[in-house]
Amino acid sequence: MKLKYCKNCKTYTLKEVCSKCNQKTSTPHPPRFSPVDKYGKYRRMIKYPEYYKK
Ligand SMILES: [Zn+2]
Repeated sequence: MKLKYCKNCKTYTLKEVCSKCNQKTSTPHPPRFSPVDKYGKYRRMIKYPEYYKK
């Protein structure tokens, strides 16, 4: 299964066509190459919980 992205809803899905808006989805850029990784912080928090613990 490949992860797809709906630009219209700005959501990730596994389907070729978005189930919400019926727009054709596209393959997103791999997260590790994304210049703006808004989930990176949370991934690091999961990976290094001690570092973010206050
Ligand atoms: Zn959509």
